[in-house]
Amino acid sequence: MNDAAILSRPAPVKTEHFDVLIAGAGISGVGGAYHLTQQCPDKSFVVLEAQESFGGTWLTHKYPGIRSDSDLHTFGYRFKPWKGVPIATAAEIRSYMGEVIEENDLARHIRYQHRITAASWSSQENLWTIDAVRVDTGEPLRFTANFLWMCQGYYRHEQGYTPEWPGMEAYKGRIVHPQTWPTDLDYTGKTVLVIGSGATAATVVPAMAADCAHVTMLQRSPTYFRSGRNAIELAEQLRELQVEETWIHEIVRRKILHDQALFTKRTFDEPETVRDELIGAIRAQLGDDYDVDTHFTPKYRPWRQRLAFVPDGDLFKGIASGKASVVTDEIERFTEAGVLLKSGRELQADIIVTATGFNLCVLGDIAFSVDGKPLDFGDTVTWRGMMFTGVPNMVWVFGYFRASWTLRADLVGDFVCRMLKHMGDRQARKVEVALRPEDRDMKLLPWIDEENFNPGYMQRGMHLLPKRGDKPEWAHTQDYWNEKDQIPATNLDDAAFVYS
Ligand SMILES: Cc1cc2nc3c(=O)[nH]c(=O)nc-3n(C[C@H](O)[C@H](O)[C@H](O)COP(=O)(O)OP(=O)(O)OC[C@H]3O[C@@H](n4cnc5c(N)ncnc54)[C@H](O)[C@@H]3O)c2cc1C
Repeated sequence: MNDAAILSRPAPVKTEHFDVLIAGAGISGVGGAYHLTQQCPDKSFVVLEAQESFGGTWLTHKYPGIRSDSDLHTFGYRFKPWKGVPIATAAEIRSYMGEVIEENDLARHIRYQHRITAASWSSQENLWTIDAVRVDTGEPLRFTANFLWMCQGYYRHEQGYTPEWPGMEAYKGRIVHPQTWPTDLDYTGKTVLVIGSGATAATVVPAMAADCAHVTMLQRSPTYFRSGRNAIELAEQLRELQVEETWIHEIVRRKILHDQALFTKRTFDEPETVRDELIGAIRAQLGDDYDVDTHFTPKYRPWRQRLAFVPDGDLFKGIASGKASVVTDEIERFTEAGVLLKSGRELQADIIVTATGFNLCVLGDIAFSVDGKPLDFGDTVTWRGMMFTGVPNMVWVFGYFRASWTLRADLVGDFVCRMLKHMGDRQARKVEVALRPEDRDMKLLPWIDEENFNPGYMQRGMHLLPKRGDKPEWAHTQDYWNEKDQIPATNLDDAAFVYS
């Protein structure tokens, strides 16, 4: 259904009320539902999900080879052991989430094909009114909720980001975006050009290399990769010793997080050494004759963009075998047969895959309003990347980029449940974050420091995101290692929280 059709629909007749409404049934929303059932069993709640099933990212993406790029011990929930190899396929992640839903009887709370279109807060009633539409029938639906738990992710699921290149319409082959992978795409024996060199490209290239005639990865500039065996030695040893899976999960999580903390610190303390190590490891896989300087030597500091893990070095094996190759250049324009590069070289391809990223989507393309006034999140200031000034009774789960997203989904889960209980104890119906007197002169900055982390979709959409302050409690610091202690220790009676 298009927007005009949705808007012209009659108003819903029936309104259902819940204490909490969760938007989205991805890893964050399913986690939220679990935490509510465990920590706030007296709260009624519903999960509204636009797609036909759970999984979010792991349902949307269906491109060849689709897999996680962080380990599943930390991308998995802290409460459910991960028993497989660390880098998992989308199907394995969905199966794990399916078990969480089944084991905790969460299915009865989730409504699929329910797209939220509007959310309006009324201070008179201390309630959110949520308008949704049944994606399959177009039926308008209305809900009210005391609290909104936004687990709708950070990018638009319906469509990925494809830059406009001159001459695209002239190209006679097929252009495909990994986010909307066509089920009928047969690439057997075809020449394929993949534009981009992020985690998605690094997955698609080796996955397609096996069946296509040749696959070329075209990048404007190189990316850092780490590679290694898709296994965690410590987990293997503990299994051999027949240690219980819950213990293995906890011990391996601690080990991974410890190692990651050391590695992240090193990327700041000695970026040159880390850079040399990362590039040296790739050189060792591709051989001295390969032009690593041109194709695998990024210009930015390690971890300024997400660092992708290449399990078992499959991307480099594909390159070494000659089935895959890398070109570092810029597109001048598309041609009938492929693309013409700025260097004058033409790359011909039967299929072009645009692994060019996402469209940032702030809070699910939902028309938010507070007391009848349309809400622009760009005008708000964030408390820890979770709550926003002027937006009552709402929390957004925005995970980590340098650590697994789910680590934060679990932290936010505990925070929301604690907040709901605290509101009950105080008999408060409304909580809002507000700058304290000591914050009045605080410098307001964009959501994330460009120096710290700067992927393209963030840069394109920064103006849409809430502002941050220059104090950790008024920013999403992307620092799990501090937040894991700070968030649980938050004083909910601090003046930053205003109750009524
Ligand atoms: C290909 C890919 C690989 C990734 N790999 C990793 C990784 O290995 N490790 C890592 O930490 N992170 C990874 N990420 C980031 C990843 O998106 C998150 O880790 C995580 O899956 C996000 O979970 P989520 O539940 O918060 O959001 P999502 O997975 O985005 O799910 C949000 C859900 O909300 C629904 N929704 C959105 N708007 C509405 C609406 N208006 N009404 C109703 N429903 C709505 C969507 O349909 C979707 O199902 C990856 C991202 C991508 C795209």
